[in-house]
Amino acid sequence: MSYVKGLKCRECAREYPKEPLYVCEYCFGPLEVNYDYERIKKKLTRQLIESRPKNLWRYRELLPIDGEATDGLNSGFTPLVRAKNLEKVLGVKKLYIKDDSVNHPTLSFKDRVVAVALSKAKEFGFHTVACASTGNLANSVAAQAAVANLKRYIFIPADLEMGKVVGTLIYHPVLIAVDGNYDQVNRLCSEIATRYKWAFVNINIRPYYAEGSKTYGYEIAEQLGWQTPKHIIVPCAGGSLITKILKGLKEFQKLGLIDRVNSKIYAAQATGCAPIVTAVKENSEIIKPVKPNTIAKSLAIGNPADGIYAVDTVKKTAGWAEDVSDEEIVEAIKLLAETEGIFTETAGGVTLGVTKKLIEQGRIPKDESIVVCITGNGLKTQEAIIAKIGKPIKIKPSISSFEENVKNK
Ligand SMILES: *Cc1c(COP(=O)(O)O)cnc(C)c1O
Ligand SMILES: [Zn+2]
Repeated sequence: MSYVKGLKCRECAREYPKEPLYVCEYCFGPLEVNYDYERIKKKLTRQLIESRPKNLWRYRELLPIDGEATDGLNSGFTPLVRAKNLEKVLGVKKLYIKDDSVNHPTLSFKDRVVAVALSKAKEFGFHTVACASTGNLANSVAAQAAVANLKRYIFIPADLEMGKVVGTLIYHPVLIAVDGNYDQVNRLCSEIATRYKWAFVNINIRPYYAEGSKTYGYEIAEQLGWQTPKHIIVPCAGGSLITKILKGLKEFQKLGLIDRVNSKIYAAQATGCAPIVTAVKENSEIIKPVKPNTIAKSLAIGNPADGIYAVDTVKKTAGWAEDVSDEEIVEAIKLLAETEGIFTETAGGVTLGVTKKLIEQGRIPKDESIVVCITGNGLKTQEAIIAKIGKPIKIKPSISSFEENVKNK
């Protein structure tokens, strides 16, 4: 049974049917899924959610499919870790890591959006799925489409990390490495999407796909005991996740599942690609596209599709935005590993680096609850840190060599 009324333009509120549409034909605004919250409110309770399997479909009434979920049945419900060691280092009272570096099956938050996108693509009758990706989306579409027996075409910028390329090829998609940056890949894919009857998860079925990100926000609230934290720091690429975390929390509030949301939401980007952060700092209504140059390739979108909504999310919640250099990203990756035993990718380094900066600036008070969004896994971006973590000590297989080189050194 479906609780989806249809699609609705974010700008002019014009309504559209449940179809693979993504842009308003009158004002070119993006379309968004519109739910029947009255009916959802009658059905969805904390108890019902808690009684369900620990995956992202436990919130299924708030996800845009009509039938049964068919994909990502083990995705989501990742750990929310209380980070005691990190609290000491940063001098704060209550800090949590929402850890999607261990999401199933491809170790990033993209497993959430792809689970929803593929379930929806099948309802629409597509046999081929595709995406334009900065890496993690490629991994997840390739893996989940393999399970779903869908044909898969994946487009990436040619300079991606080896871990992201291998972590895509292994699922045997058609992988196309485009000689250009993500924004060029995305433009090409938009053209291809108009010509071929494929479900481009982040283009023509983007309104449905993007709803999957809400589950990251739902889980933060549920795992905190149906409460919201005072501060949430979110990494931004296209600006969708940050927007949907707030949407998810507001929906929970509207349904009476949590009290009034008063979380401040912060956007985190790398200095080498910070169009959203720049717009927040300059209090600008428009996003100035940039040419990305950073080790945080998963966040390297110079012209973010949901950039203005990301800025709006920060403003509405009285949050802020900050960026960090590539060196600060590496330092933050190491800090998270050494304190909490979590190996995150460059995007996670951005988020923690920005969190540290905001605390040092006094923007985030030390005695209020903080959730840091860790969205991807460090094994995929080893190039970024390999030269900066030391080397193993080489010894001969003898006790004397051990003592000479390790114990008595
Ligand atoms: C895609 C991605 C993001 C940001 O996603 P948007 O919704 O495009 O802003 C954050 N972290 C990681 C690891 C990602 O792969
Ligand atoms: Zn419109």
